[in-house]
Amino acid sequence: MFSFQIGRSESKFIENIVDAISGHVNKAKYPVHEEKSPKQNVVELLGVGKMHYGCKHYRSRCKIRTPCCNKIYSCRYCHNEATSNHELIRYEVQQVICSICDKEQPAAQVCTNCGVCMGEYYCNICKLYDDDTTKQQFHCHQCGICRLGGRENYSHCKKCGGCLENFLRDNHTCVNLRQDCPICDEFLFESMKEFKPMNCGHIIHVECYDKMVKCGITICPVCSK
Ligand SMILES: [Zn+2]
Ligand SMILES: [Zn+2]
Ligand SMILES: [Zn+2]
Ligand SMILES: [Zn+2]
Ligand SMILES: [Zn+2]
Ligand SMILES: [Zn+2]
Ligand SMILES: [Zn+2]
Ligand SMILES: [Zn+2]
Repeated sequence: MFSFQIGRSESKFIENIVDAISGHVNKAKYPVHEEKSPKQNVVELLGVGKMHYGCKHYRSRCKIRTPCCNKIYSCRYCHNEATSNHELIRYEVQQVICSICDKEQPAAQVCTNCGVCMGEYYCNICKLYDDDTTKQQFHCHQCGICRLGGRENYSHCKKCGGCLENFLRDNHTCVNLRQDCPICDEFLFESMKEFKPMNCGHIIHVECYDKMVKCGITICPVCSK
């Protein structure tokens, strides 16, 4: 199913890429849908391996070389989970390794060797790659990190020091967003999960709050208010 017309030379070009890449794709650790030849779908071709690579944190088509310990990991979280004495500073990542062709190269969105897009979402500040754009990633310059949920749905509050959902913008008590979730201890400022303030001003994951309420607890676990 072509959604747009392509010329003869482009179609030849695409065939060449298919031949060059299919060898690698077949070796992929995730199964390929065999009933569809890549030629049948140009969009699929340009996104070779899309959503088939990565780790439990991100669907990315490259790994990162961590400058702190000179190792190769799928992502920052994978590095931090495997390392006990230091954390990776995301901005310091400079080299990545394409998962399709294994070429190590300076971080960029498109592989300079095989031409595959290594992440549908790419932040050149955080060196963050993710094919799963349903998370609606965006980089907040004031937070200095990538966030989820769509730029249009969030506003940065200077007092809180972080991004809040729009409905809270003119309607919240400022809290320091650089605190841990009282239930699971995750640092909320960098959390990928949704959170909200409780009446006392302490903040908590929505998920953790719901679990807490299910257990019959409705007071803040930090200050008991
Ligand atoms: Zn390290
Ligand atoms: Zn990971
Ligand atoms: Zn490549
Ligand atoms: Zn970013
Ligand atoms: Zn922000
Ligand atoms: Zn605020
Ligand atoms: Zn939590
Ligand atoms: Zn509290």
